[in-house]
Amino acid sequence: MELIDGKLISQTIKDELKERVAELKKRGHSGSLAVIQVGNDPASSIYVKNKKKACEYIGIGSVSYELSENTSEAELLNIIDELNNKPEVIGILVQLPVPKHINEDKIIRAISPAKDVDGFHVENVGALCVGERGFVSCTPAGVIQLLKRSNVEIAGKHCVVIGRSNIVGKPMALLMLRENATVTVCHSKTQNLKEICKSADILIAAVGKPRMINSEYVKEGAVVIDVGIHRDENNKMCGDVDFDDVKDHVSKITPVPGGVGPMTIAMLMNNCVEAIENR
Ligand code: NDP
Repeated sequence: MELIDGKLISQTIKDELKERVAELKKRGHSGSLAVIQVGNDPASSIYVKNKKKACEYIGIGSVSYELSENTSEAELLNIIDELNNKPEVIGILVQLPVPKHINEDKIIRAISPAKDVDGFHVENVGALCVGERGFVSCTPAGVIQLLKRSNVEIAGKHCVVIGRSNIVGKPMALLMLRENATVTVCHSKTQNLKEICKSADILIAAVGKPRMINSEYVKEGAVVIDVGIHRDENNKMCGDVDFDDVKDHVSKITPVPGGVGPMTIAMLMNNCVEAIENR
């Protein structure tokens, strides 16, 4: 069994981006990522802090908008509109979830697709669907990098994705299809889940259920990617995969923590650098 080291791969990607940013600066191109947080959910605050730290590391600017929980939808839309029109802002990110009185879809659609570095806007999702250029959702894009940089052959392989959310499962399936895998997407209504998973050469778990995927779901020698992030009853981090149970049956696997997690911010930085290059 070989561990796929997301910490190392994400660091390599950030170092490559740092060089690209330095080159862009030499040619007079730069910009900032605008990060908007509504309310002060502690988990969101940590994500926002880490995103700003990553911007600093690769050498791009970041401006943050820390808005109160009571901010109205109209106020948030106004800020997005202002940022859409500011040339120095190359990316706009609204940390999700937003408070319940704000319509998340409306917010995502208000962000200019050219600045939608999260890759959530329907225009970018549509571009992925028809094979055009656009920003790709960061977590699934990170999984592709993990596979490629670990020399996992994707073309022609059977890939099973468990989960069909708009931010992970669906774009993940589309990306694997783009890489010429044969893709099966499973969800809560799927019948014979174990049998289907057991036929996967590459199994990607984005199911949101702690340690649900055990060795009964895994083919001998499969590559297993664990997107899940949870804290168990002992406050220990774990994924959707029961790592200890499956590790002796797989050829390669991502750990939690240190697998998919660090890739999300690295790919967000990649999208920011592309946004500067696109201008
Ligand atoms: P969602 O809850 O939005 O989606 C979960 C998906 O799993 C749904 O499509 C659901 O099916 C399916 N599902 C739920 N239960 C079952 C079941 N028993 N059998 C088969 N399918 C099932 O989660 P996300 O996609 O947002 O996230 C998935 C996981 O990834 C979470 O653990 C999350 O914390 C983690 N995550 C990690 C990130 C990272 O940076 N590493 C980033 C984003 C998420 P249905 O559609 O039918 O309801």
